[in-house]
Amino acid sequence: MNAYIPYGKQDISQEDIEAVIDVLRSPWITQGPAIDRFERAVADECGARYAIAVSSATAGLHLACLAAELGPGDKLWTSPNTFVASANCGLYCGAKVDFVDIDPKTYNLSIAALERKLAEAEKRGNLPKILVPVHFAGQSCEMAAIGELSQRYGFRIVEDASHAIGARYGDRPVGSCQYSDLAVFSFHPVKIITTGEGAIVLTNREDLYQKLIRLRTHGITRNADFMTEESHGPWYYQQLELGFNYRLTDIQAALGSSQLQRLQTFVNRRRFLAERYHQLLANFPLTRPWQHPDTQSSWHLYVIRLNLEQIERTHRQVFEALRAANIGVNLHYIPVHTQPYYQQLGFKWGQFPEAESYYREAISIPLYYGLTEAEQDYIVETLAEVLSNRAS
Ligand SMILES: *Cc1c(COP(=O)(O)O)cnc(C)c1O
Repeated sequence: MNAYIPYGKQDISQEDIEAVIDVLRSPWITQGPAIDRFERAVADECGARYAIAVSSATAGLHLACLAAELGPGDKLWTSPNTFVASANCGLYCGAKVDFVDIDPKTYNLSIAALERKLAEAEKRGNLPKILVPVHFAGQSCEMAAIGELSQRYGFRIVEDASHAIGARYGDRPVGSCQYSDLAVFSFHPVKIITTGEGAIVLTNREDLYQKLIRLRTHGITRNADFMTEESHGPWYYQQLELGFNYRLTDIQAALGSSQLQRLQTFVNRRRFLAERYHQLLANFPLTRPWQHPDTQSSWHLYVIRLNLEQIERTHRQVFEALRAANIGVNLHYIPVHTQPYYQQLGFKWGQFPEAESYYREAISIPLYYGLTEAEQDYIVETLAEVLSNRAS
């Protein structure tokens, strides 16, 4: 049997290792020049004006919500088909969280469901302050439509682009913030590029940028322009608000800059493997990922959806058989509103039926830069066996 194949993993090159060692030998291992270089490089890559490196996308989403002035009494809406962090950021700010059901084809939040929910919320005086669209699996949400709705209803947009560095929407990279206030990339090792832990927040707005910079470091400023009184001397700083230590180290930023140079290589390989899956799985009793024509995915995930009425095994049996064959399949995502913590807040099974029926059928199969074609063939062959009626 094959060695264990995870669903995703990082690829670290000799150049990456040397970039990290260079920082370790330099005078700055945190808050030094490697951070600025990484921020500039990501901003340029995406065509956004400002980039702020932070310790994780969870921290980035929290700061983005604070910068957009989310607070008690406000509402944040997101997709139920996401990692819990996309919703938790609202709760950190003392806001209420609600969800918009997903589109059955893209598995991103549904524009039709969003329109309906906004119209209802307007009647009740219950509109959200922030919407967090999640670019699921690396495929952008329909940002032009979401942007239009944000103009009409006056909410802010924080893109959870954790899966989507290297993806495109229309003729621009995801992260350009063309239709949004802020966007957040994650650099956790399973994502497209990695810094170990880490993230970048992007924005085109100077005011949001200044706020993010402060909130990342305890709410402190050393810039006399923002101080409430004359500086006491060269040592002086002021804490203007309650911030955090959400900084990235220079060690991590150097790894990020080095990884960023291979972004297109990574995404091209993922796209090649995704297209190969698409061919190989053509006649299987499952639904392959559907791509909206306005998007080019970064292919963070390759999700198959089982056609359960055509097979004689349950979703769980298929999942377990693949794991037993050393294939590290996973499930993205357990609908957030079904988590016990969210059920305690009053959410119930049945509230977001598209996300729930997706959950009963979805399996993420391995996809990452270093996955070989032989491994991919093994995954496809095993899947064929598991899904066939012969197998027991
Ligand atoms: C990974 C992920 C996060 C959290 O990222 P961290 O950098 O691990 O904090 C948030 N949202 C989504 C959709 C993710 O996949």
